[in-house]
Amino acid sequence: MIPNTFGINATADQVVAIQNESHLQEVLASGTIGRLPHLVVGGGSNLVFTRPFPGVVLLMQNKGVAVLAEDPLERKVSVKVSAGEILDDFVHLAVARGWHGMENLVAIPGTVGAAPVQNVGAYGVEAKDVVQEVNAYEIATGKKRIFSNADCRFGYRDSVFKHEFKDLYVVESVVFSLSLDFDPNLNYAALASLEKPVTPESLVEGIANLRWSKLPRPEEIGSAGSFFKNPIVTASHFEKLKSEYPDIVAYPAGDGFKLAAGWLIEHSGWKGKNLGKCGVYEKQALVLVNRGGCTGEDVLRLASAVEADVQAKFGVLLEKEAIIV
Ligand SMILES: Cc1cc2nc3c(=O)[nH]c(=O)nc-3n(C[C@H](O)[C@H](O)[C@H](O)COP(=O)(O)OP(=O)(O)OC[C@H]3O[C@@H](n4cnc5c(N)ncnc54)[C@H](O)[C@@H]3O)c2cc1C
Repeated sequence: MIPNTFGINATADQVVAIQNESHLQEVLASGTIGRLPHLVVGGGSNLVFTRPFPGVVLLMQNKGVAVLAEDPLERKVSVKVSAGEILDDFVHLAVARGWHGMENLVAIPGTVGAAPVQNVGAYGVEAKDVVQEVNAYEIATGKKRIFSNADCRFGYRDSVFKHEFKDLYVVESVVFSLSLDFDPNLNYAALASLEKPVTPESLVEGIANLRWSKLPRPEEIGSAGSFFKNPIVTASHFEKLKSEYPDIVAYPAGDGFKLAAGWLIEHSGWKGKNLGKCGVYEKQALVLVNRGGCTGEDVLRLASAVEADVQAKFGVLLEKEAIIV
């Protein structure tokens, strides 16, 4: 079975578990994988499998952490981390070693290799703030390429690996640029509740507690995290919604407004409701969950029903954040 946090029974024609860089080079050398349908999987924390995958899955299990350079004057350290390392494990290791900047990314499920692809983010910090370089291999040719931070063209949960290089590269490792000084990012409103003074340890513990108070732990309840993106609407659309629903949750975004998709779903009556074996999480309506034995089709059926009701009530089209396979 291919690992996935939704807990869906997922299979593929072939699964190749990549153990290290030379193994990856060997696997890509013949060029066969580039000619077949292929999918790179880390922890499967953002994937919803709706069918047996008709091709090869490269399952990234390469491990390793190495300090490349430390500059005591600049107070910086560059650390290379293999793609198959668990991101949360590295966040904890970094705190233990006195490398700072990734504390706010604690408890995000998944691997280091997916972090730049997704530009993962939480509590005011994104992968783009700490990624120095991404070492990747072109799947078709097996050629290595180093992407600088700028090359990655990071956006909100977005990068070049989701657009022009989608499915073309496999990330082998990520070099993070971290600080030897602790200068916590506490800008996110919810962090005001943390006890002061904040230490690296209390920050990761506090954020992990905040996260798990409203998100389902994958080992207990299956999900892919936030299932929908927060939609952006025009200012006039927002004004119309605001006059009808004064408590609507939204933030200015460019010329328009970003609406909280969870609020829209909740106010469409879906929070805590199920359709078949899939449900809308009772503590956070943005998350669809496995109620036991859920299939990819169950997820899509519920997602379509939620999308239709939100569209009918608010005139807003929800876009999926989870990747449908
Ligand atoms: C409970 C829960 C909470 C979550 N909270 C957050 C959150 O706060 N913030 C956030 O940003 N995300 C969150 N997520 C989503 C998820 O954690 C991230 O998307 C994470 O980066 C997925 O990592 P993964 O290794 O599981 O990737 P996968 O789900 O296996 O893959 C995701 C995508 O990345 C690609 N990919 C994976 N590894 C590689 C690689 N080595 N090379 C090339 N491509 C690769 C895959 O092909 C796929 O397109 C949450 C998920 C869950 C289940």
